[in-house]
Amino acid sequence: MITTLFKDFQFEAAHRLPNVAKGHKCGRLHGHSFTVRLEVTGEVDPHQGWLIDFSKLKEAFQPIWQCLDHHYLNDIPGLENPTSEILASWIWKQLKPELAELSAVIIKETCSAGCIYKGE
Ligand SMILES: [Zn+2]
Repeated sequence: MITTLFKDFQFEAAHRLPNVAKGHKCGRLHGHSFTVRLEVTGEVDPHQGWLIDFSKLKEAFQPIWQCLDHHYLNDIPGLENPTSEILASWIWKQLKPELAELSAVIIKETCSAGCIYKGE
């Protein structure tokens, strides 16, 4: 049986988008309460009845969360232009080597807008 699990994390951070047209609101310094949803997909262990322990997701994400929470994202190497798309791919690159089952990174920067990245 194949399943997908997810776990949501939140962090607060400031950013600005340096490459938007002059006058675009995202070019100004501002902040978001970001939600990161990590999805993992794979075979359920028949004895344990689960794919992985949710605590493994938390442990794998913890060092990344510490880099992001209450930071200015533009200062982080690789996030000089911290759109949701680039942030999702940046998290994927950090996490995939630690978490082989990772199947999607979903970023929400507002309640109604977000990005899904599946590693391609
Ligand atoms: Zn923004």
